[in-house]
Amino acid sequence: MSDLPSQWTHEPRKVLRFRPGDKVADIDTDSSPGYSDGKDGSEELQNERNERFAGLQEMLYANGRAGDNRSLLLVLQGMDTAGKGGTVKHVVGAGNPQGIHYTSFGVPTEEERAHHYLWRVRKALPAAGNIGVFDRSHYEDVLVVRVHELVPRDVWEPRYDEINAFEKELVDSGTTLVKCAMFVSLDEQKRRLSERLERPDKYWKYNPGDVAERKLWPAYQEAYQAMLDRTSTDYAPWFVIPCDKKWYSRLAINELLIEALKGMKLEWPPADFDVEAEKKKLAEA
Ligand code: AMP
Ligand code: MG
Repeated sequence: MSDLPSQWTHEPRKVLRFRPGDKVADIDTDSSPGYSDGKDGSEELQNERNERFAGLQEMLYANGRAGDNRSLLLVLQGMDTAGKGGTVKHVVGAGNPQGIHYTSFGVPTEEERAHHYLWRVRKALPAAGNIGVFDRSHYEDVLVVRVHELVPRDVWEPRYDEINAFEKELVDSGTTLVKCAMFVSLDEQKRRLSERLERPDKYWKYNPGDVAERKLWPAYQEAYQAMLDRTSTDYAPWFVIPCDKKWYSRLAINELLIEALKGMKLEWPPADFDVEAEKKKLAEA
């Protein structure tokens, strides 16, 4: 039975799923697809859904402890200020850190550069019962790398197929992928970047290089389009998240996580001991 809150008129996993032919240029970053309400009340709903997520996460973890090999991997991919960090804090942060494996992927270190680009990604995969969170991901190797021509085309071009094969392998070994492509408008990005310059508590998030990246938006748009066209598969589809409204993008990603966890049809693992006998023993202890 669905427990989708009534504010959602359509299931996020359906309404946000990237469809062949969808164009990045047409994404309305300020929209709130499938959601009938506005910001009012969203915080309350977020709190409620945080709890629902936390309950399911605990169940996944409990199953992992009981020998179930399944895991979940949340991939957050988006331009600066799209809200990747806020999603980690306000959505994933509601879970128990015991079962969450967070990794952010920055400019590869010298050691990482000496290896295949999937090397650091494989090392960061979630163990059984865990939720892995990728703040940026292997997709940088067909995004920033493509836009800046960090390697020649004949090197990045085969990566789309290679990533698909890699993800197929993950899915076959019990990992459910939730891939979120987060889009913010250039105007909203400017507002968020300028806020970072106004507030000392946000300086740490500001990177002078981000301003130059804004000029490359057309090239990024093309790279994001290719990524979505070529790596949104049946087994690991992309979800396109409009991110100008933070309250919406967080609710949407929270709901995608809940839907993915529910899709695993988890139950609490049964006791591997005689409960009644243990109660009796304990009473007498
Ligand atoms: P941030 O997420 O704001 O900490 O920034 C991380 C930076 O690392 C971004 O500018 C990314 O584009 C960059 N980055 C991540 N992965 C790669 C990669 N494989 N090659 C080059 N740059 C990368
Ligand atoms: Mg940054």
